[in-house]
Amino acid sequence: MEFNKILNKYFDKVFTEVDFVKKTYNALEKYGFNDENAIASVCICRDEICQSLRSIIKHVWGEAFNLSSLGGMFTAGKTALLSAIHHAPKIDNNERYVFYIIPHTAIDEEGRMGICSRRGIRESTACGALSIFQKELSNKYLRKKGKGRLKHSIHKIDEEDIEMSLIRKRLLIEIPYGYVPDLFELTKITRKAIQTDFENVIKKVVDKSKSDYALVTGIQIHAPDGNYIWPAECYAFVNGLRIEVTL
Ligand SMILES: [Zn+2]
Repeated sequence: MEFNKILNKYFDKVFTEVDFVKKTYNALEKYGFNDENAIASVCICRDEICQSLRSIIKHVWGEAFNLSSLGGMFTAGKTALLSAIHHAPKIDNNERYVFYIIPHTAIDEEGRMGICSRRGIRESTACGALSIFQKELSNKYLRKKGKGRLKHSIHKIDEEDIEMSLIRKRLLIEIPYGYVPDLFELTKITRKAIQTDFENVIKKVVDKSKSDYALVTGIQIHAPDGNYIWPAECYAFVNGLRIEVTL
């Protein structure tokens, strides 16, 4: 089918959501993380079609702390992250945290990026927020004449649309002026930006001498035959040492 060809072109390997979460659990169990001694946190998009992933994580790890926001951006910040880690089980003077950072996208039967169906809606968009931003990037009317720069207003925080403003502001840092990535590329850029923002904060709030933690990242893909996860960077810090986790 057409969508498989496009999917394989951008995402070299994908797992079903259930397989992905099981694989991450089994891989991390080898390094001492399990559903009794660790707390999971999720940072995904607010979209209802993403929540199946959260349900599976909850089923495997127990109730998960919710760090999510529009687009799956990590805007929850230090206070939220501190709350998540303070809620971890305290066993043998050690704490363990598992973070899932997974923005999303979609593909339809014809291989069109960002197109999915929803309950009662034959044709919809995911990630809606990233898709809007991608259209803004490609819309010449939003650009200053003759230049590749977007209008100043797009950089401002709209108090009535804070999360969307934060998406624009953050992602514009990652995209060269005038360049318009396609939606899959933009989703990959977004995943990396979320990881960077998360890592910047976690290193300030975690004490690696008394805590082990794992970061699992990827992209959730809504496809015609179900949801998939493309695994990206995945690692754990155990006794202060970084271990690359392969699935
Ligand atoms: Zn979304």
